[in-house]
Amino acid sequence: MALSPLLSRYDHVLLDLDGCVWVGGVCTPGAPEAIAELRRSGKTIAFLTNNARRSPEEFVRQLWALGLRASLEEVVTVGGAIQHVLAVRDKPPRVYVIGSPAIFRHVTDSGARIVNATALETEADVVVVAGHDDLHFSELRAATQAVLSGAELIGAGRDRTFPMQDGLWPGTGAIIAALEYATGSAARIVGKPDAQIFLTALDRLGPGSTLVVGDRLDSDLAGAAAAGLDGAIVLTGVTDRYQAEAAIEPAPVAIAENLHSLIVR
Ligand SMILES: [Mg+2]
Repeated sequence: MALSPLLSRYDHVLLDLDGCVWVGGVCTPGAPEAIAELRRSGKTIAFLTNNARRSPEEFVRQLWALGLRASLEEVVTVGGAIQHVLAVRDKPPRVYVIGSPAIFRHVTDSGARIVNATALETEADVVVVAGHDDLHFSELRAATQAVLSGAELIGAGRDRTFPMQDGLWPGTGAIIAALEYATGSAARIVGKPDAQIFLTALDRLGPGSTLVVGDRLDSDLAGAAAAGLDGAIVLTGVTDRYQAEAAIEPAPVAIAENLHSLIVR
């Protein structure tokens, strides 16, 4: 087994998870061997996901369970990108959070002060929004009042829905849309296709030429371009070959049946 000529050109590889490394909890064909080959060749790797419901620790456990070696700092979730955005501010902000326990922890780890369930709720500097299953009207009310009082609105993504066993569930984008409609303010999105999640990964990996690999034109490829990086498309997720070959501005540097055939020759 040897690395493909394309992959030999890069120092870092940023891998999308769903539709690229795995589909529905099962690895795409040969993905563990391909990723092991990247490591043997001295490439550094990060796994990037827009999924805001689970913590990096949970993703690391899932990767190991599927036979993939991974460390905590190699997993960059949109929650990690939000943490980065909050941590680099001059002064720790007061934050009202709508999100899963994983998002609350990322906000806390950034050094910010969470004001949920305090008298300062509507005086938050920032409202952070990521989808979660226990959304209550009181959260929309507090977030609306905080944004109307001047808080910045930061969102994990604009996905309208996500697939579950019984059909589609409303996604983070649906909650963001409610708050934007109520307040007339536009949210800053830090998940793909925004550049921030890629920049957070590069902040950990250091300088070097970087390839982004994913299955979506509108998030992986567009996000890579927004961050000034090359992107390759694998056909194990939502994009078919016809759509991938039709993509221009940005165009993928490579299109492959799966991660294994992209990485290994
Ligand atoms: Mg994907």
